[in-house]
Amino acid sequence: MINRLQSLARRPPQVLLFEGGNEEARLELARYWACVNLCASAERPCLACVTCRSILQDQCVEIRALDGRISSKDDEDNPGFFRTFNAENARDLKHWLGNFPKLRYHLVYITGIAASRPEAPNALLKILEEPSPSALFVLLVPQREQILPTLVSRSLTLTLPYVQRDEALSEDVDDLLKRFAAFLIGREDFLGIISPKSFLNLQLARDFLLGCQNSLVHTLAGEPKTPLEDCLKNLSVQALSQAILWTQEACEMLRNDLSPVSPLRVLEAYAMRLYLLGRS
Ligand SMILES: [Zn+2]
Repeated sequence: MINRLQSLARRPPQVLLFEGGNEEARLELARYWACVNLCASAERPCLACVTCRSILQDQCVEIRALDGRISSKDDEDNPGFFRTFNAENARDLKHWLGNFPKLRYHLVYITGIAASRPEAPNALLKILEEPSPSALFVLLVPQREQILPTLVSRSLTLTLPYVQRDEALSEDVDDLLKRFAAFLIGREDFLGIISPKSFLNLQLARDFLLGCQNSLVHTLAGEPKTPLEDCLKNLSVQALSQAILWTQEACEMLRNDLSPVSPLRVLEAYAMRLYLLGRS
């Protein structure tokens, strides 16, 4: 990933989208990308000069950061490096980008896009439609499906491996993962739990699979912590690798909103495969 960013910096894309990984990993890459583009050393990035250090400490004046999860009130009461991502701040951004950058580029990180009001991403789209050669945008999202397709199509997307546990996993997903673990040892009717029409939506199905993927990778790394990981640790390395492939396949089927297969069918087939794998 680091090599890729260095080669991209020769002709940086207007918008880079980081998905996957976890929140901290995405932000780390955004900072690295900023260093590659703004560092003035011959060997970019040096990660040691004044500019690089200011970037790594989120204090660089040539970077603006917006987060749709911050409320306007919090933003006013206690402004931090990340300001709220709303239409007003997006318009301010446009004004700021009109100034000549003091370093090579202006950089903008945007996160929490799915939690913002729809006016904000629309205002952002307007800015992107009139590109400024000195402005580089970095969008940070768990999965590209969570934001407007028009934003994705304007971006170069880089996917981080889904390795570490994402803090964003909701209680619903954690609960479902626990029940799935109980199902794998024959103690719970997982298929019965997910089958009511109102229960499973696309997002929950995707997050569940993401949780399974994380658990499989953790187990493979030999550090089981959750009930599901505890149950998966009895599988051979070969079986775990097979399960990871099946998980990726299932994720792939749910990547597209227009998938002909319903989330329920995908999870049913997936659950049965893992159940039988544990018994073979
Ligand atoms: Zn530097």
